[in-house]
Amino acid sequence: MKVLFIFSIALAGIGCLEIGANSNNVAAKQAPETVMETPLSGDFHKNLPKGFEDPVDDAGRLLLREYGAVFLARGGAIPPKKVVFRDEADVVAFQDSLERSTAVIGGLRIELQTPAMNALKEAIADAEKAGLSIGPRGADSAKRGYNQTVGLWASRVNPGLAHWVGKGRITQAEANRIRSLSPYQQVPEILRLERDEIWFAKTLNKSIIYSVAPPGTSQHISMLALDVKEFENSKVRAILAEHGWYQTVLSDLPHFTFLGVKKTELAKLGLKEVVNSGRSFWVPNI
Ligand SMILES: [Zn+2]
Repeated sequence: MKVLFIFSIALAGIGCLEIGANSNNVAAKQAPETVMETPLSGDFHKNLPKGFEDPVDDAGRLLLREYGAVFLARGGAIPPKKVVFRDEADVVAFQDSLERSTAVIGGLRIELQTPAMNALKEAIADAEKAGLSIGPRGADSAKRGYNQTVGLWASRVNPGLAHWVGKGRITQAEANRIRSLSPYQQVPEILRLERDEIWFAKTLNKSIIYSVAPPGTSQHISMLALDVKEFENSKVRAILAEHGWYQTVLSDLPHFTFLGVKKTELAKLGLKEVVNSGRSFWVPNI
């Protein structure tokens, strides 16, 4: 097995950003990542859902690379066929098409796709045998709707636009034009500005995607993601992995994704293992 070292980008809490947005803690890391490159590397694109809308723009490609493992979910799970949902109605139509289950876990009511919930319950049962518990971090740790992400996005975009107008990097007219767009239309516009280092993270010194998930892009919309309260416990992480739940968003430490396959299948599907902070992240091998 060949081991590559690459330098990490200072990713800070991508997919769970709705929870972690005010705490830079969970994610911060600067150490080199170890990429485990296996000869079994599969074809990520080949294994995407039938009819998947492969993004043709830079923003879409970036989001596929950062959040895309969920699109390979197996085990009866139904992943989305697009990288960005357009609006609340688009999300509701997708979520309503799914077989879903609700449960109260750790005192919180959560909703997931049924295969993901069943696997989670099996993991919880295994954990209990080992004297451990597995539960959600908060009330919004599983399913999320489109509108939940919109407010947070605006809380980065609007102050950012004002800041960069003040710095003379963009005109007031350009800022007004972007403000007038729908959140869906804003995503590529903001990422385009960031190519010129006009950053929109809360700290204004890095990409917004490391600060909040752009509207319509959170894995939680797919109902195949869970932010786990006991994410620091390596035994909990191992039990979750045995039941098809893996970490797939670099640096987002509490965030787990239901992929529904054994670990040995992940590379064949087209994912690669990136080891960081003692954790294995499975990310698109693209
Ligand atoms: Zn999350």
